[in-house]
Amino acid sequence: MENGTIYLVGAGPGDPDLLTLRAARLIERAELIVHDGLVDRAILATARPEARLVSVAKSRSKHTLPQDDINALLVREARRGVDVVRLKGGDPFVFGRGGEEAEAARAAGIRVEIVPGISAANGAAAAAQIALTHRDDASIVSFVAGQCKGLSEQDWAGLAGRGRTLVIYMGVKTAPQIAEKLMADGLAPDMPIAVIENACRPAMRVLRGPLAGLPDLIADEAVRSPALIIIGDVTAREDAALATLLEEARAS
Ligand code: SAH
Repeated sequence: MENGTIYLVGAGPGDPDLLTLRAARLIERAELIVHDGLVDRAILATARPEARLVSVAKSRSKHTLPQDDINALLVREARRGVDVVRLKGGDPFVFGRGGEEAEAARAAGIRVEIVPGISAANGAAAAAQIALTHRDDASIVSFVAGQCKGLSEQDWAGLAGRGRTLVIYMGVKTAPQIAEKLMADGLAPDMPIAVIENACRPAMRVLRGPLAGLPDLIADEAVRSPALIIIGDVTAREDAALATLLEEARAS
């Protein structure tokens, strides 16, 4: 029997309208979808009723399925001739461990295709109308992972500051260490920041403040994952019209 193909598919930040056409088509005709926790239910609901849906949801504290087991599951199913849709939040190659899954597939001689998705940074920036590289304020944008592991060893020097935008994924829990790290690197305590929780979903919140206030903002507003932290002057361009727009979006 011929091997199936493994499709590493980006599901975007939440809203099903933000799927690529290719992702939407693959989901609609899939026999097997292996998805993680970030994939919105509204997207899974577009699968055929007879499709098999396997969740390999991972949370920071509990790993439902270790990465090796996920890799093995994908390869095993493909070897049985099944086309596997491996559906991941955002883009599969931005902090999604898609690289490891693609390697495992190639090592097993299985065809793997990558379908890009809108990463949380792009989705959140659009939804909050924060131009990540507004011409007046930034000509560099960096994406970093803020989770505990290795945070202190990561060299972020020069990634944030005037003229630069830093987007931090997975940084809710470590916000105090992140703020401290950036200020120790020389960032001004009043550098503007924004926190975008549940971007591109009905429960989206956009919070703003100075860098020094980031830990309190997250604690006081009880911000929960998934949320992104954006650091830089581009987050402070809010004008009256934008404030009204975001308020209306919240109310609807
Ligand atoms: N591959 C994904 C990122 C996976 S890492 C992508 O490209 O977007 C998971 C982190 O992504 C979360 O901790 C959060 O920081 C961010 N994230 C994902 N979806 C989000 C959303 N809808 N709103 C805000 N942040 C989100």
